[in-house]
Amino acid sequence: MDLYEHQARQLLADHGILVPRAKVTDSADRARAIARGLGGRVVVKAQVKTGGRGKAGGVRLADDPAAAERTARRILGMDIKGHTVRTVMLAEPVDIEEEFYVSYVLDRAAGRFLAIASAEGGTDIEEVAASRPEAVARIPVDPAEGVTSAKAAEIAAAAGLPPQTVDPLVRLWQVLVREDALLVEVNPLVRTREGQILALDGKVTLDDNARFRQARRGSDDCGHDDPLEAAAAAKGLNYVRLDGEVGVIGNGAGLVMATLDVVAGCGARPANFLDLGGGASAEVMADALAVVVSDPAVKSVLVNVFGGITACDAVADGILRAVDRVRPAKPLVVRLDGNNAVRGRALLDERAHPLVQQIPTMDGAARRAAELATTA
Ligand code: GDP
Ligand code: MN
Repeated sequence: MDLYEHQARQLLADHGILVPRAKVTDSADRARAIARGLGGRVVVKAQVKTGGRGKAGGVRLADDPAAAERTARRILGMDIKGHTVRTVMLAEPVDIEEEFYVSYVLDRAAGRFLAIASAEGGTDIEEVAASRPEAVARIPVDPAEGVTSAKAAEIAAAAGLPPQTVDPLVRLWQVLVREDALLVEVNPLVRTREGQILALDGKVTLDDNARFRQARRGSDDCGHDDPLEAAAAAKGLNYVRLDGEVGVIGNGAGLVMATLDVVAGCGARPANFLDLGGGASAEVMADALAVVVSDPAVKSVLVNVFGGITACDAVADGILRAVDRVRPAKPLVVRLDGNNAVRGRALLDERAHPLVQQIPTMDGAARRAAELATTA
């Protein structure tokens, strides 16, 4: 899960990295009062989970509270790379002397972490990395050893960062380890005119698999920006919203992924990924169907189940109960195979529900669902 800048900076601050004072709001009116509280001049920053906000006009300096309100009004509602700005952060402005780039990122292939640092941080870091890779130091970090002061000094020296960055580099590693992050990035880490080292931006990606041991990650903060994804997560379903028109329900992540490919191969686009998981009871099936059909983009639903531990007759029963409970106004194409498939298919045939049709093969079922979606 990616955090918003204001959440990331809180984690940095919790681990002793200096950050400018700041407050978040979704209202331009309140932005004025906040600016007043911060001393008048503020930087107004779009809170969206994507980089390049500065270049997109989502980071602007405002000289006084009235300007802060106008600027907030301009930035709120802006679209930055497909992300709508719902909140802005107002921060005390900082006089920047130098901008650095520092990050730790998991290097899966190497089974280690990588420290990436540059004395030429700021909004042009991508160009710097592309045109002059030697200006960006990349130092492997052994996860068992971590970033000690000595290691941080090595990173700082390799990147040409001043010695005052050693302490924040150690603390940034502590953020990564203690918060179970896969990525922590500060760009820019700045040296102010007074010689202080401050984090002016923060990006943190938390490891969702570690959520269980991170008690302080509240239940309201489970990383689902999409209301349907949040509703599905509340029901314990593995659901990811995509942008097509064929709703996809299957059991097992591998089967669901293969189903997405087959739908795409039929010239349609999957609207979602929904994995029922192991025990696909009637209840689970109904919850899944309710989530998928409530996406207005869904024109047809493909249910692709290979019966294993859960027999196909139980799944068929689940589908019929789900249809009765949810009363979808969209056609369902069902492919059942595996354990007790004959019995499962017979159950669906007996009921002959007008919205439910069966196709025995995965290819055929995907083709039919794609047809229904594109002609609907
Ligand atoms: P990003 O473009 O999404 O990475 O957003 P940043 O938070 O990094 O802001 C972009 C740029 O705005 C930074 O690289 C800084 O150069 C500049 N900036 C951000 N905050 C301040 C500030 O308080 N003072 C000054 N002078 N510049 C700032
Ligand atoms: Mn930045």
